[in-house]
Amino acid sequence: MTDQNSETKTAPTNFIRQIIEKDLAQGKHARIVTRFPPEPNGYLHIGHAKSICLNFGIAEAYQGDCQLRFDDTNPAKEEDEYIQSIQRDVSWLGFEWAGDVRYASGYFDTIYDCAVELIKKGLAYVESLTADEMREYRGTLKAPGRPSPYRERSVEENLALFEQMKNGDIDEGAAVLRAKIDMASPNISLRDPTLYRVRKIHHHQTGDKWCIYPMYDFTHPISDALEGVTHSLCTLEFEAHRPLYDWVIEHCALPAAPRQYEFARLNLNYTVTSKRKLKDLVDGGYVGGWDDPRMPTIAGLRRRGYTPASLRKFCEMVGVARADSVVDMGMLESAIRDDLNQNAPRAFCVLRPLKLVIENLPDGHEEMLDAPVHPQNEALGTRKIPLTREVFIDREDFLEEANKKFKRLVLDSEVRLRYGYVIRANEVIKDAAGNITEVRCTYDPDTLGKNPEGRKVRGVIHWVSATRNVPCEVRRYSRLFNEANPDKVAEEGLTFLSNINPDSLESLPAALAEESLLGALPETRYQFEREGYFAVDRDSTTEKLVFNMTVGLKEGF
Ligand code: ATP
Ligand code: MG
Repeated sequence: MTDQNSETKTAPTNFIRQIIEKDLAQGKHARIVTRFPPEPNGYLHIGHAKSICLNFGIAEAYQGDCQLRFDDTNPAKEEDEYIQSIQRDVSWLGFEWAGDVRYASGYFDTIYDCAVELIKKGLAYVESLTADEMREYRGTLKAPGRPSPYRERSVEENLALFEQMKNGDIDEGAAVLRAKIDMASPNISLRDPTLYRVRKIHHHQTGDKWCIYPMYDFTHPISDALEGVTHSLCTLEFEAHRPLYDWVIEHCALPAAPRQYEFARLNLNYTVTSKRKLKDLVDGGYVGGWDDPRMPTIAGLRRRGYTPASLRKFCEMVGVARADSVVDMGMLESAIRDDLNQNAPRAFCVLRPLKLVIENLPDGHEEMLDAPVHPQNEALGTRKIPLTREVFIDREDFLEEANKKFKRLVLDSEVRLRYGYVIRANEVIKDAAGNITEVRCTYDPDTLGKNPEGRKVRGVIHWVSATRNVPCEVRRYSRLFNEANPDKVAEEGLTFLSNINPDSLESLPAALAEESLLGALPETRYQFEREGYFAVDRDSTTEKLVFNMTVGLKEGF
């Protein structure tokens, strides 16, 4: 995409780009290849957006390739729905992967051959200890591990047992294949890590072909090498696994020697960025689904009204570093606010309608007023707003009594209907319970586009015609969690779910938008003047539009 190219070219440098520039300058690589390797066990979230922008952004900036590879080694948790959603989200963000989508499972044959090679070299063995025993033998951060009694099995025995594992003759949990590295290593991931385990389950790509599946740490370097990845970028929790990554590259006969580099995860306050926790929110019914507009998933942010450009901009602002940090949600909000302030057409929508009757307009009066689509961008032209004898204003824009600070309509004083006339409130009609049901007004015909002489009006308010409008439901959102760090729980035994904000969704079911919004399609975004930024939701029907509030007009709404 062209707009994106210009973004990435001006993107600030970071330590990874510096490494790449050095590698290119020294002729270590002629072409840069990166990959984005999601596990298809959930929807992508804003943290993944950072990884996507980094990997694809680098490929674009250095005219290289970025591949999309599903890291699908754990079929128990994986689903086709996630494979589809991940591709949709990456494309929507504006990135194109090189060639076909790839699957780690597509390399299972080669990975198996690598395992057999390692056994033949005396670098892998079949373990028959139970999982509990293995844990005990592994030692701790302070104490070295002990060698398993099965560590010195002969190559022939190992080959035969591994073959049995593969053929389904060994039960799940009864054996695993381990690398033979160093049980005394200070790095626990080098204490004979597991390479393969028995899992007698169907795989979404390979069907029932396999009943043994390779571990992530074994699969990843091999997949990277097979794809010619030059820089394998992952998050910091894999730093301790890098020696294992290098060990696999060194001891398996592979066509290339990729290098792993780690960067800090993106964490956002007031939300969670872990597919497992997001799945808990979905499965527990705490939200309406993976794309609930309160979710920090890419699909949720999209439905909320975020644009791809705003998420890319946010990732650029966050930057790429090696120090873990928590980013303020306000930064994400300001990225979309800036985008929509510049690009969203303006519209009127009255969220809590209060009827106003303009008594000196005749019944059936219809006058088309002109309003700019975007006050800072004349090129976008104007929209027509019908003024009728009855209009609606927001309940919060009227008071029977107020001091001078209240810049809206007050009984016996004047306000301007935006893009229309100055009106005066003369009388209030109430129901038996004392609620205001109607305000009776008069308008000053001499005030269209000019101020009344000798008087000051309090302010300007938005409005919609009572007879020509579009009924809407407006959904407003606040933080999904009450705690900045949702994992900080009040008492032991509680989980992040105890910090859910029960009032994160507020529905305004009787809102009315200006007529020009009739037929607006899902994902169309507007600034509702004086209210904020809103996007049409896919729940909309021909009778009623549904809007999601994306973000308020100002920070701290
Ligand atoms: P989760 O814990 O949410 O499941 P994950 O790391 O297990 O995350 P993967 O599908 O394995 O999810 O991640 C794909 C890529 O995205 C990996 O390279 C991973 O390092 C990166 N990634 C995941 N979460 C973040 C994050 N919060 N910030 C930056 N990159 C991330
Ligand atoms: Mg993972």
